[in-house]
Amino acid sequence: MAVKVCKFGGTSMADGNIINGVKNIIESDAERRYVVVSAPGKRYSGDVKVTDLLYACHCELVKSGSCAAGFAPVRARFESIVKELNIDFDVKSVLDETEKRIDEEKSEDFTASRGEYLCARVVAEVLGAKFIDAEKVIFFRADGSLDGEKSYKAIRNALSGVERAVFPGFYGSGADGRVKTFSRGGSDISGAVVARAVNASLYENWTDVSGFLACDPRIVDSPRRIKIISYKELRELSYMGANVLHSESIFPVRKANIPIRIKNTFRPQDEGTEIVPSSRYIPSGCTVTGIAGKKNFTVIFIEKSLMNSEVGFIAKVLEVLAGENIPIEHIPSGIDTMSLVISSEQLEDSKLSRVLDGIKKAVEPDVVRVIENIALIATVGHGMSSSVGTSARLFNAIASADINIKMIDQGSSELNIIVGVNNDDYEKCISAIYCEFFNK
Ligand code: ADP
Ligand code: ASP
Ligand code: MG
Repeated sequence: MAVKVCKFGGTSMADGNIINGVKNIIESDAERRYVVVSAPGKRYSGDVKVTDLLYACHCELVKSGSCAAGFAPVRARFESIVKELNIDFDVKSVLDETEKRIDEEKSEDFTASRGEYLCARVVAEVLGAKFIDAEKVIFFRADGSLDGEKSYKAIRNALSGVERAVFPGFYGSGADGRVKTFSRGGSDISGAVVARAVNASLYENWTDVSGFLACDPRIVDSPRRIKIISYKELRELSYMGANVLHSESIFPVRKANIPIRIKNTFRPQDEGTEIVPSSRYIPSGCTVTGIAGKKNFTVIFIEKSLMNSEVGFIAKVLEVLAGENIPIEHIPSGIDTMSLVISSEQLEDSKLSRVLDGIKKAVEPDVVRVIENIALIATVGHGMSSSVGTSARLFNAIASADINIKMIDQGSSELNIIVGVNNDDYEKCISAIYCEFFNK
């Protein structure tokens, strides 16, 4: 029988009632055998996610030597969930043990991971399924990257003869044997790792929206749902800020061609979005599939006459950045100019001035200019390369909204066009592009 892996996000775990709804979803399909859960999320706007409570708890531990005060709201949250579920589960003992281990480990990653750990313990109890600790089956290498092969093997071993299991998302074991987390939102990756390990027929990612939408619903009211999207388009959109799905979650499933479906826990009857390999992608007929973006980038603009004929010019500039261990997002270039687009948080603590000095020394440019507070917006779609005039429509829409474009980068795959605008114009720019391509 085919097997589906289901990952439920934070809002799907927010309280006992919702978790009961999740139980119904799982039990309504016998193929939904393996479940990955996030830590409980917000119950209402203004509420605090359990993971955020835990990061604060770690700060408290560092300050005072004890996590007790910081752990109290986490304790209260799980006690109330267990009460709402009305299950026979000794949550107090599990919370006591957890608090003790947080105090002993004194590790930010360990503390942050406990939201998923506790939640998976509870959900396993609700489903009568086996709890499998991610610490024992998901492994990272010494450089911090996921050790896929080792993890897949350990997951398969742990699941042998197991009918139903629940895994905590977000963490695994580091090369030093201590608990290590993925980056924020990383339970999506854990779900993909389990899906790959069991060669699932489908990886279902259950969240609080009815699919991947053409843009962020917090910016445009009720954007159009994307019915089908390729791994490549998804990667571009999620990397550029559409955080419905962690941008690294496609890697484990991509190699095995396992499709992903985004589903809404609160409207399980909705079709959602299917994410498929390019070979199974059916063009929707739309020029643009989706729009996403992120704020707070810095552009370092470099000009030097005859730059293009100076062999090794770009390499020397990049060496300066590599020397400071700074990743670069984009490098748009012209004949005598190049720009480096870098996330502003990478340039904090006098790194920017060291980089500028380094560039001046390395390549003696005519001009170096820094433009800060830039937002990047990516317009993505396989349909863009085959439709004449897409860029003209895009730039016209932005100009008509009276927004000044600071930078343009068209990916060589012709899958996307990225524009840089002032942070303040971010929302207006996304709305303008959405209106142009989706007639709203
Ligand atoms: P979960 O806790 O289930 O992992 P997330 O909060 O990580 O959920 O992701 C779902 C949220 O992503 C939605 O509530 C929505 O606000 C936001 N979001 C941002 N961009 C998009 C988009 N293009 N389509 C759908 N949701 C989006
Ligand atoms: N709970 C973690 C976070 O808030 C991981 C996740 O939600 O996927 O980032
Ligand atoms: Mg998420």
